[in-house]
Amino acid sequence: MSAIAPSKQTYAREVENTDTLRGCAALFFRFPTPRVLALKILAFIIARPFLGPLTYMDAVFVGAVVLWWPFQEWLLHWKMLHFKPFKLGPFTIDPYMSKKHRYHHRHPWLLETTFLPPESFYVLVPLHIGLWWWLSPTQGLAATGIIAFATAALIYEWVHYLTHTPYRPRSSYYRWIWRNHRLHHFKNEHYWHSFTAPFLDVALGTGPSAKSVETSDTCLTLGVDDEF
Ligand SMILES: [Zn+2]
Ligand SMILES: [Zn+2]
Repeated sequence: MSAIAPSKQTYAREVENTDTLRGCAALFFRFPTPRVLALKILAFIIARPFLGPLTYMDAVFVGAVVLWWPFQEWLLHWKMLHFKPFKLGPFTIDPYMSKKHRYHHRHPWLLETTFLPPESFYVLVPLHIGLWWWLSPTQGLAATGIIAFATAALIYEWVHYLTHTPYRPRSSYYRWIWRNHRLHHFKNEHYWHSFTAPFLDVALGTGPSAKSVETSDTCLTLGVDDEF
């Protein structure tokens, strides 16, 4: 097995009740990264009152995260997760996250691949907390930023995970997300990069009608000859 493969392998359709939201939620919180994110959010919500009063700046910080997150998601998916490896002298430039994402395209029904790699949290969580602490004008605003950003990350993980379960959309907004993400996986990987904000794909020209796009034969491999 490839080193990039997850050590545990869970397929939603082999788990009971994953055609219901309740069943999906129960399974979601058995995975490590949603647990870490939920704990982080809870810890900073508890700490927040001890770090100074809430001001209008807290709302500005939350608003900035809400506006920024969809762009980050779209940009990182398109440019980083779909980064094509290339040779630079004796080295191959192939970021770990890109490789992990190719594994996800190759094994789309393997739920472990829908989450951020748990091992990346050893770097991402301290980095994230450290940056907010360092760049925010007050500790209270840093805590608010951490809560907002970690909540956005948790929502992203939930939505991406859910699109890879047998749960069928009930609301029109989620149907839009679900359909776009499946088109990204099975129609053409060069489009539909957003996970939670499908309107952004439309606004940025990567959300065409499915009929107008050719079916790609590299949806599963992303055009890279990996050994997994
Ligand atoms: Zn996916
Ligand atoms: Zn992708």
